[in-house]
Amino acid sequence: MADVRGLVLGELAVKEKILTEDDLDVCVQQQIDERYKRPLGEIMVAKGYIDQEGLDDLLRRQKEVITEYERTAETAQLFGRIAVAQRFITEEQLASAIRAQIRKESRGQGAKIGQVMIEMELIDIQQFWSILHAQGDFTCAACAQVLERPFFRGETVLCEYCKSPAFTVTPEKPGPRPTGRRKRR
Ligand SMILES: [Zn+2]
Repeated sequence: MADVRGLVLGELAVKEKILTEDDLDVCVQQQIDERYKRPLGEIMVAKGYIDQEGLDDLLRRQKEVITEYERTAETAQLFGRIAVAQRFITEEQLASAIRAQIRKESRGQGAKIGQVMIEMELIDIQQFWSILHAQGDFTCAACAQVLERPFFRGETVLCEYCKSPAFTVTPEKPGPRPTGRRKRR
């Protein structure tokens, strides 16, 4: 299962130009191919992109960043695991979504993993709901009913009982958006 801590370290190493995005791709693929037998950092060392000392140093210096990220990583892990288990996405796609999320966080554009997956068009809103639902009951904030079969409109999930928006995913896509509301002023 996706090695979030390893991916954080990997992205930091890319940011510090210790290795390239392509190098990291190679390591991530290797890790997936061997079914997560080794942590990503160990693979980076084994492939000679960084030595153990360099890795320890990076880990030490970036401890704060990693700790910060790990607070949200647990939910990302769970969401990702369900998405893979339901066969909505592959391990490769999950790793790339987590990396995109890490890059966003490092730019101060914190985003939830599900939102990132929708932005990357890896999942749609119905799959998003399905993953969320698999994590437990979701109660409508407006009418307090537990949602079972909500409606979908655009990137919004609507309560099946009171029709109010239960939650919405608003990806920040570059360029004009096809949705009408913003255009009509
Ligand atoms: Zn409701």
